Amino acid sequence: MLVSLKVRSSVSALSELYKEIANCRQCELARQRTKVVPGEGAEDAAIAFIGEAPGWHEDQQGRPFVGPAGQFLDELLGSIGQKRQQVYICNVLKCRPPGNRDPLPMEIKTCQQWLDRQLQLLHPKMIVTLGRYSMARFFPGETISKIHGKARKEGGLIYFAMYHPAAALHQQKLRETIQADMLKIPALLAETEKAPETKTGDKPQQLSLL
Ligand code: URA
Repeated sequence: MLVSLKVRSSVSALSELYKEIANCRQCELARQRTKVVPGEGAEDAAIAFIGEAPGWHEDQQGRPFVGPAGQFLDELLGSIGQKRQQVYICNVLKCRPPGNRDPLPMEIKTCQQWLDRQLQLLHPKMIVTLGRYSMARFFPGETISKIHGKARKEGGLIYFAMYHPAAALHQQKLRETIQADMLKIPALLAETEKAPETKTGDKPQQLSLL
């Protein structure tokens, strides 16, 4: 009873937040967008995937990762037995930068409040950053080539950095790296759910933490 009440109240808080995001006019991107792209997925998701910004397809549909990079993300999710409806997917920016240019520092700063509030309502167990801009928010000062496929544990939450799926679309080598990184997620997530003590005879898990 308590659980279902909690889920229902956070569902409505998240949909209320989507309305606020849709009304946001705090930067120039709002004037140029077709649709705002707040995010979507299970509101009690254990994992939140955070990309960079909506592209053309996302701007048309108001949904994150629905173009070619999204198809690859769906495939990656399938490789760990997940569907997009079971996880949460959103972006650092909620509106498309014109011509898919890189987000500007001012746009990231202005939009940060929305991502912060989303994560407060969702409280996932794991945050997976997709690409440099999302990585910069959770792994400040790091470089993606150095930390992709590695995780940081902080306050009961696991942060895990991956290359952006779009980067892999035309580079087979990067595609394989992303696929391999994705396969590390289930063991990391299991780590957050594990009881503190391990039984005698348990093999220690090899997790690459930062
Ligand atoms: N790239 C992103 O970073 N986000 C999307 O939603 C789509 C493409």
